[in-house]
Amino acid sequence: MTSSEKPAGTIKENIILEPKSQNAELIDPFGRMVNYVRISVTDRCDFRCVYCMAENMNFLPKKELLSLEELDRLCSTFVELGVKKLRITGGEPLVRKNIIELFKGLSRHLDSGMLEEMTVTTNGSQLAKLAPDLYATGVRRINVSIDTLDADKFHKITRWGRLEQVQEGINAALKAGLKVKLNAVALKGVNEFEIPDMMHWAHDQGMDFTLIETMPLGDIDGDRTDQYLPLSQVRSKLEEDYTLTPNNYKTGGPARYVDVKETGGQLGFITPLTHNFCESCNRVRVTCTGEMYMCLGQDDKADLRTALRAHESNEQLKATIYEAIDRKPKGHDFIIDRDSKAPAVSRHMSVTGG
Ligand code: SAM
Ligand code: SF4
Repeated sequence: MTSSEKPAGTIKENIILEPKSQNAELIDPFGRMVNYVRISVTDRCDFRCVYCMAENMNFLPKKELLSLEELDRLCSTFVELGVKKLRITGGEPLVRKNIIELFKGLSRHLDSGMLEEMTVTTNGSQLAKLAPDLYATGVRRINVSIDTLDADKFHKITRWGRLEQVQEGINAALKAGLKVKLNAVALKGVNEFEIPDMMHWAHDQGMDFTLIETMPLGDIDGDRTDQYLPLSQVRSKLEEDYTLTPNNYKTGGPARYVDVKETGGQLGFITPLTHNFCESCNRVRVTCTGEMYMCLGQDDKADLRTALRAHESNEQLKATIYEAIDRKPKGHDFIIDRDSKAPAVSRHMSVTGG
């Protein structure tokens, strides 16, 4: 039977997918509900973190990017399809011109109760200026990436960043009433021995602290095997001095949390390489050009920009989203080892959005 002869639904891995009614929820072939979208609003950044970007990056021409109006339309369509959580990311989302207007517009979905949460992942550089505005638009939780508390090391890791500026941003966010989670990429021989100090610093100020393993995304200037630090190793080391008790705290993201008895705070681990978190994956990622990736670690994607720009109505856009969700893979197959030097996925994290 050809695809045009399919009477109703499609059969995939022995699961029958019913044809979608307008606004049916997004359920993938493995029964996972997709209710979380991470959307990148720019590929640009004011930092050049060594694990994320090469120093000389070629950024996209502005016309390739979704406009703020298109971003609003796209996010709102996802909300109509049952998405409850939006995370705005980048590149550095807060360097996009007039970005607060996007948050302001989307806050109508928080007011209506259709959207449960709107969050942002940022390097913190613009927070001193924008934290009160973010709070005013309904953002309540943010993630700030900070890999070290040593100013020189910070400059080496980010190439262009200043630690003081980020610390001021974090203070402004806390003052504005935002709940802040700190994220640090665990880097062998770089911040490896600073992790307990960073954890104390975060927990003393009431912030959760999450460690991330480096993922093989995009060409960078160095060798990733030099950076990769398995979190299983970090955890064992921490357990020599701290009592870590796994808890059920969930933010909708992939982190697994433990309570740290000695600090009274929570420590998260995002371990795509040592522990596969795909079985509970509830999200998709959209790039700043409107490409939807159904898995961070696979190349399959759907072009939402063409669907957005082709029609004023959202029907084709919704059909494209449903079709893509039907292709969401079971999981990724990241590997970092000496024999596979090329990145598992050629695009940078700053393109897909972290
Ligand atoms: N610029 C913002 C920031 O740094 O938070 C948002 C975008 S950034 C791509 C999102 C997250 O991805 C950051 O926490 C960053 O540390 C992390 N990241 C970037 N490249 C990574 C990689 N190759 N492996 C693991 N995490 C990475
Ligand atoms: Fe910029 Fe964030 Fe990538 Fe660092 S991790 S270069 S701050 S996008």
